[in-house]
Amino acid sequence: MGGRFPPLDKTAMSRYFLQPSGLGPRMNLHEGLNTVGRNPTNDVRLTEPSVSSFHCELEVSPAQVVVRDLQSTNGTRLNGASIEQGVVRLGDELRLGELRLVLDCEVPVVTIPQLKPVAAPAKESVRYQCARCLRVWEDRHLKRLKLGRDSEELRFCPACSGRCHPASPEQTATLPTAEPSLLNRLSQTIQIGSHPK
Ligand SMILES: [Zn+2]
Repeated sequence: MGGRFPPLDKTAMSRYFLQPSGLGPRMNLHEGLNTVGRNPTNDVRLTEPSVSSFHCELEVSPAQVVVRDLQSTNGTRLNGASIEQGVVRLGDELRLGELRLVLDCEVPVVTIPQLKPVAAPAKESVRYQCARCLRVWEDRHLKRLKLGRDSEELRFCPACSGRCHPASPEQTATLPTAEPSLLNRLSQTIQIGSHPK
């Protein structure tokens, strides 16, 4: 027993616990002396009738976990052997009266910090304002026209086909970005802009 578990480790020390071999909640151990028994003043309180009021104590230190029997009525066994004192290794079974407990520990979780998303390049957030109807558009909504191979790509308003120019964030911060779908609905109910053919 114990061979498949890592050696006692200072980093895991505060995470030791006793796991009942049947169903039952685990019992956390703290650094230093942990008293175990049925008396409610114990650090680890057990209700099993065959456990004495003050059955044993477990001393948790960086180097090891030591169990000492406190002259209990039904005795303390470590991996089957009746003991007065012994070193408990991970995976070892303690038997207090009829109760079987296994020393286990939480493997310390190494957390990798989440990478924060890098802010999108500023040019992607540039919006365009129509010179004619003054609506503000996302770049993807605009009609484009390239007049020549090396010429600048021109952008046109999808609503009124007016020329659109990059608008500074300060300029457009207070202006809502138009959505073509909304605009289509608006243009059906009220006449806005002109629709050159
Ligand atoms: Zn326009």
